[in-house]
Amino acid sequence: SPVAIVCVGMAGSGKTTFMQRINAYLHSQRQIPYVINLDPAVRTVPFESNIDIRDSVNYKEVMKQYNLGPNGGILTSLNLFATKIDQILTLLEKRTAPPAPAAAAGEAARAGTSAGAGAGAAPTSTPTPQQQQRPIEHILVDTPGQIEVFVWSASGDILLNSLASSFPTVIAYIIDTPRTTSTSTFMSNMLYACSILYKTKLPMILVFNKTDAQDAGFAHEWMTDFEAFQAALRREEEGGSFGGAEGGDGALGGGSGYLGSLLNSMSLVLEEFYRHLSVVGVSAMTGEGVEEFFKSVQEKKEEFVRDYQPELERRR
Ligand code: GDP
Ligand code: MG
Repeated sequence: SPVAIVCVGMAGSGKTTFMQRINAYLHSQRQIPYVINLDPAVRTVPFESNIDIRDSVNYKEVMKQYNLGPNGGILTSLNLFATKIDQILTLLEKRTAPPAPAAAAGEAARAGTSAGAGAGAAPTSTPTPQQQQRPIEHILVDTPGQIEVFVWSASGDILLNSLASSFPTVIAYIIDTPRTTSTSTFMSNMLYACSILYKTKLPMILVFNKTDAQDAGFAHEWMTDFEAFQAALRREEEGGSFGGAEGGDGALGGGSGYLGSLLNSMSLVLEEFYRHLSVVGVSAMTGEGVEEFFKSVQEKKEEFVRDYQPELERRR
């Protein structure tokens, strides 16, 4: 069965560019994916999508009609779209079903008869277009720029749960690597990822994007060795980047101050969280790391089937 990859991340982290990249990669591998755009506010989508929320809801109109600002407009568009999830799942299931020989033959025969072809024309030997295509193995989902609209809304919940009840589903959490090099932004980002993991209860891959601009080695190091993280914390403290050096009450200081000791303890707690994640560095711009990403997808897909699916079935 195909795997669904849902790209989430802060606005500007590179979700859409990453979607474009992995879509192009799969095309080059002759593994045509099924692509869904759930961002109603995007002006242009740089990839072909099979389902585009913009085809069924007009975000600008929604804003006008319901007298909403941008975030409300996106949320309401998502709500309207979520009411069609059944149709979308039916479409997806039809499109991703492995061609069952008997059924397909029957279909071909019916198509043959309705087209007026003689019953003796051996319709079973002519493959339907469906059979000629390779089965879809990937469903790619792009989400709105504002992460909270998707992750923390009822409709986002409905969309994700529906998807995950039909297909192995993994979350690709896209991170803007150049903007997460300080210990505090890094920690904030990890906590956000952690909250999404517990909110969605789906396997997650951390995708450190933009490695063309900033190597992700530091992140790997911080995630595997909390002492390295704490050392970086001390260096930042000495460099005064917490701004507590002059006249501060020490609350924002490093290892000894409040924030420093909080970061210190959190790095220990997060060690457990890190062990459940796959981490890859990629550049959506150059394509670096994309193969490794798909290796992680395979691992996480197996994890979904092994650990998550039984749990989902139990809850149902
Ligand atoms: P989204 O809001 O998460 O969908 O982010 P976009 O895909 O629209 O990208 C936001 C900005 O980051 C754009 O200016 C992209 O060109 C840039 N960007 C995305 N991926 C990369 C990358 O791998 N390297 C660099 N240098 N820039 C990137
Ligand atoms: Mg986008």
